[in-house]
Amino acid sequence: MAANERIIRQVRAYTLRGGGADYHDQQRGHWIDDHIATPMSVYPEYRESRQSFGLNVLGTLVVEIEADDGTVGFSVTTAGEIGAFIVEKHLARFLEGATVTDIERIWDQMYKSTLFYGRRGVVLNTISGVDLALYDLLGKIRQEPVFALLGGPVRDELQFYATGARPDKAQELGFIGGKMPLHHGPAEGEEGMRKNLEMIRDMREKVGDDFWLMLDCWMSLDVEYATRLAHGAAEYGLKWIEEALIPDDYWGYAQLKKNVPPTMLVTTGEHEATRWGFRHLLEMDAADIIQPDVGWCGGITELIKISALADAHGALVIPHGSSVYSYHFVVTRTNSPFAEFLMMHETAEEVVPMFSPMLLGEPVPVNGRLTVPETPGFGVELNPEIDKHRPYTH
Ligand SMILES: [Mg+2]
Repeated sequence: MAANERIIRQVRAYTLRGGGADYHDQQRGHWIDDHIATPMSVYPEYRESRQSFGLNVLGTLVVEIEADDGTVGFSVTTAGEIGAFIVEKHLARFLEGATVTDIERIWDQMYKSTLFYGRRGVVLNTISGVDLALYDLLGKIRQEPVFALLGGPVRDELQFYATGARPDKAQELGFIGGKMPLHHGPAEGEEGMRKNLEMIRDMREKVGDDFWLMLDCWMSLDVEYATRLAHGAAEYGLKWIEEALIPDDYWGYAQLKKNVPPTMLVTTGEHEATRWGFRHLLEMDAADIIQPDVGWCGGITELIKISALADAHGALVIPHGSSVYSYHFVVTRTNSPFAEFLMMHETAEEVVPMFSPMLLGEPVPVNGRLTVPETPGFGVELNPEIDKHRPYTH
């Protein structure tokens, strides 16, 4: 039977804790929670750990969509129990009884029906999760990888930069660049600024002149500090300064892009959502590279639109993390020439699957490169040994 005759029988939402899609939910001592500068760093009591202010409060949302032949598509994202409630109590009605090819119509109904409490944040994370599960289901029913559903690959393999505390290790592992977290925000004064610049200088010495070095500021700075940091870091060949400001400060990003040295790129967007959010960034000329997270921005359906808009504005799209959910998209777009790999190893010294241990069959870059497997859907399975919980039903 053709995919457009297959009917969605049931939608189910689960939550789970510890790593997985909520990749900040790690043990103490992990590099991802080691005194990283954040907007909360102005409060000394929340400066040491992002978990202290609740970064891992949501947990993972797993969405499963079952067709009438028993085929199950699934996805994982960061939305936890709130997301499970939204899927079961609100969004499931737009899916059950529909055909599995109804992806555009379902997205539109999910978005418009949640406008009164949604538009971005956890609601868009949840919509993204449903959309990714639908693409996984369609791929599995058609026995095609998602990248084939999106028009096919434009290159043979992906090449990656690595995000983590050890760009020098990333260089040894074959990545094209390394992106470090910033550790000290404006509230830590000139001493913090000196330490930030020392870290970049020290890493530049370790990796030599040609390796890309980038800095992820996780929304922690203001325009004045970010401008001074950019000019100081230009001396050490910093390629880009990422997410320097809070996502709502489009005006600040536009100013920062004017202020940074001409050799440096301004990037942002992992906490932005929908074509309208990115339209704002692009029309204000606020970033050279946009970094939507396919699990947060509205899923593949919305990322297609965001990417087309970016292309027309001459901006690259380098999606934030998200493993296979990004890889299947990035390999189909000419304006996504490389991809991000998040080093989830505790000290960022080894390549481990990003969503480990939640997914089975999750591919990882070897020597900084990856040929996206031809396995149907997103090519991964949910680890049956994971302890998942279904908090709501409908
Ligand atoms: Mg980032």
